Amino acid sequence: MLAAMRACGKQGCGGPASATAALRYRERILWIGDLVPQRDPNLLDLCEGHADSITAPYRWRRLDERRAAPGLPPAAASA
Ligand SMILES: [Zn+2]
Repeated sequence: MLAAMRACGKQGCGGPASATAALRYRERILWIGDLVPQRDPNLLDLCEGHADSITAPYRWRRLDERRAAPGLPPAAASA
């Protein structure tokens, strides 16, 4: 159960966070996963758009382990 609504950590965004990003320095992996239940200062909360668009630093790998969202597909038109 989520304690509170969290917002995207990207400046100027403020969208609802739906994913969490972490920098795994040892493996040089930018990890993206489902929003973790507890806020962690080492992790970055991201909205779906920013989780999709975030890029790994030079020579890092991007690892997206988000599960397929059970909700609405982002590209789906509201019909
Ligand atoms: Zn955002």
